[in-house]
Amino acid sequence: MLIRNIWCVGRNFADHAKEMNAEIPTSPMIFLKAGSSATVYSNEIMLPHWVEEVHHEVEIALLLNDSLQPSAFALALDLTERKLQVEAKKNGHPWTRAKSFDGACPMTAWTNFAQLSQLKEMTLRLWVNDQLKQEGSTKDMIFKFDKLVEHIIEFFPVCARDVILTGTPAGVGPIRVGDVVKVSIEGELTHVWRVKQEPAPKVQV
Ligand code: ZN
Repeated sequence: MLIRNIWCVGRNFADHAKEMNAEIPTSPMIFLKAGSSATVYSNEIMLPHWVEEVHHEVEIALLLNDSLQPSAFALALDLTERKLQVEAKKNGHPWTRAKSFDGACPMTAWTNFAQLSQLKEMTLRLWVNDQLKQEGSTKDMIFKFDKLVEHIIEFFPVCARDVILTGTPAGVGPIRVGDVVKVSIEGELTHVWRVKQEPAPKVQV
């Protein structure tokens, strides 16, 4: 299934805003990842050759159906080149290259649901090499699912097959070549990825 736009919310968990030394937002802070940065059903995270420090951010992803209503969820990794992002923030520049590189949004398979309220108390977790790094509950989201969806539909040109990433709990950190990244929701292991990196292009001599 081809994914279109990926609308993301920043700092939607107070503990993550704190670890980034960032203010807690008073209205949702929305940014985009290119739909073409999504990889679905892959067990590999293939990092571009030029990245230096990519951080994991596990998030619940919502998929909009033909009536622009969220009807399925998955877990997604909002991969972020943290060095570039810090630099961009410092200079007041857009952080597109830090957030929207090739393969920057690995996703698990989709699960259909009937009501958004079914997701209101779900625990999401992420491990790197069997070490628990991130753990959070959707009940701790600053902007809950219904508010986020409402806000995004109000202000942006959403389409069917758009995805909404709903924010990451604390514990973000680097992933490196050879690492095994696992995620679970409600205690059920949903996906495992192995981290790889494409080789640098050979320089012509
Ligand atoms: Zn994020």
